[in-house]
Amino acid sequence: MNFSSDFTMTINGEAASGGASIDVINPATASSFAQCPDASAEDLDRAVQAAKDAFKTWKLVPVEERRAMLIKAGDLIMANADPLASLFTKEQGRPVTLAKQEILGAGYWFHATAALDLPVDITEDTDQRRVEVHHEPLGVVCAIVPWNFPVLLASWKIAPALLAGNTIVVKPSPYTPLCTLKMGELLRTVFPAGVVNIITGGDALGPMMTAHKGFAKISFTGSTATGKRVMESAARDLKRITLELGGNDAAIVLPDVSAEKVSQSLFDGAFSNSAQICVATKRLYVHNDIYDDVRDRMIQIARRAVVGDGSQQGTQFGPVQNKAQYDRVMNLLESAKAEGLTIHQGATPDLEGYFVPLTIIDNPPEDSRVVVEEAFGPILPMMRFDDIDEVIARANNTDYGLAGAIWSADIERAVQIAGRLETGTVWINENLQSTPLTPLAGHKQSGFGAENGIYGLREFTQPKAIYIPKSSDAVA
Ligand code: NAD
Repeated sequence: MNFSSDFTMTINGEAASGGASIDVINPATASSFAQCPDASAEDLDRAVQAAKDAFKTWKLVPVEERRAMLIKAGDLIMANADPLASLFTKEQGRPVTLAKQEILGAGYWFHATAALDLPVDITEDTDQRRVEVHHEPLGVVCAIVPWNFPVLLASWKIAPALLAGNTIVVKPSPYTPLCTLKMGELLRTVFPAGVVNIITGGDALGPMMTAHKGFAKISFTGSTATGKRVMESAARDLKRITLELGGNDAAIVLPDVSAEKVSQSLFDGAFSNSAQICVATKRLYVHNDIYDDVRDRMIQIARRAVVGDGSQQGTQFGPVQNKAQYDRVMNLLESAKAEGLTIHQGATPDLEGYFVPLTIIDNPPEDSRVVVEEAFGPILPMMRFDDIDEVIARANNTDYGLAGAIWSADIERAVQIAGRLETGTVWINENLQSTPLTPLAGHKQSGFGAENGIYGLREFTQPKAIYIPKSSDAVA
């Protein structure tokens, strides 16, 4: 598809430019390279009204037709992966081959979600009556997305919301609005007007959306602090919510693994996407017997890694995505230095962008800021342990509960340990995996509800029980 050269919102199936605009910064150069619309309250009202109007007919469209449209949308996204990936790199910073994987992943998610089913459940079937539970759409969904996986995480919301018969208004992060706007251009050609609306704006837009009475549900991905504000705002009208929030995920490495075999995977689990992944390893606990070996290998990998502008061939790790996050990560690094912690770092390019060296902090105290806080940037604390009960207690000693990983040659033992982690996901001898059929659901302050699979799909529905008598004798 030939994209238009400007960046417009999608409201009621049409391009909308809004009045004001905001600059979009390339994090590899720290300079603005495009503008996106800054939606006003009136733009939001128009988008919600369009979605409300469209809901009346969209909910009646047979599910097989909705499925077909989702598949077509997935095809279109995949077919445009190359132009979208180079735009993605400019706004998000990730190297272009990895950016393309996200675009293809979004298309794949549309396809896989289209195959899900919400059959009517039968909870009773006797001679007297049958009780059916139907899964009805809720209405207009408000989808709010962060900057670390802007396209994929939008698809995690759009595809199931629409399959279930809802309509949607999507807001990407003001730091990464462009690919989502372009995705809107594609979706305009597939879905009836008003079914998918994409709006962009600055800091005022998110709170305006969560307070808007036209939404039946908010599906939010972002930080725990913002998630709490979203929940407060949603409480006023008892809007349904799904919150996918922050994490401080622990990986536990038992002494029966080969340091040589696992070090690269441990490194990737922590530093992929320059460590800006909600489910990245953010605390690495390695058994004393192999700690030195694993640490030394990881330091070598960090020193060899190529950090740079993601549009340049050979770059493995891009910059931190935005200035605010860069300042936060640098502040954590300063605090680690002030605490006198042992710090090992790779190199950064001599560029203006938001580059942070890939950093390993060697066995910091458990109460240091780099261990307690979610860095969401390339600073990994790695700590020694001796005793498995003690390390499980350390791993669980956090308000977060997103994911975790166990590395061991003894899979049965690893499964037992997995059962003791207070997280929504545990991987064994792998990292960062998610599938369209498997729920991502944060435990504790990492979330509320789930995304993906039938678990995520149900969150876009209202169960409705219908009691159906087998005969009308009692009344006629
Ligand atoms: P953020 O909370 O600052 O922003 C997320 C989105 O919310 C953005 O679109 C932002 O504009 C909007 N927003 C900001 N304030 C708002 C308000 N008061 N009301 C409504 N919307 C508001 O998060 P971020 O910095 O964009 O993303 C990083 C965070 O997201 C990290 O904590 C990370 O762990 C988390 N995250 C979680 C998951 C998950 O699936 N659990 C996935 C990706 C990222």
